[in-house]
Amino acid sequence: MTDPGTDPSLSPDSSALLAPADEDLLRRAIALAARAVELGDAPYGSLLAGPDGTVLAEAHNTVRRDDDITAHPELKLARWAARELDAPTAARTTMYTSCEPCGMCGGGIVRSGLGRVVYALSTGQLVALHPASGAWPVVPRVGPALLGEARAPVEAYYRR
Ligand SMILES: [Zn+2]
Repeated sequence: MTDPGTDPSLSPDSSALLAPADEDLLRRAIALAARAVELGDAPYGSLLAGPDGTVLAEAHNTVRRDDDITAHPELKLARWAARELDAPTAARTTMYTSCEPCGMCGGGIVRSGLGRVVYALSTGQLVALHPASGAWPVVPRVGPALLGEARAPVEAYYRR
């Protein structure tokens, strides 16, 4: 196992950029990651906090337990925020998460309207600790195609 104290890929540490209140909430997200491990799931935890630091919602990874590849805590919380928070509240809400959100969760976060994300481990740091975490294949994409046909339902929807 790589020693995070000596592995240069695990640097730099940007903790100096965080306010003490941010650090406390980030530690709570890391504790949720530890809880996920205790329950047999992958080591990721996240929470949402309002501008005064009030915790609005918490989640941890349940991919194994739920047999659901989308059960990342960041995506669960982004979906919760989109359902439960009005846009101004979402924009003042911060997600604290034990690891940098993956591409799937990043898309959900953007669409949720959340205002900020604070994470502990970067994706690069995660991959340095566990290389399989970065071993996702590139899926070939073919397109665009059939523009004339594909545009019809889009135009019909947005013409309404
Ligand atoms: Zn994710």
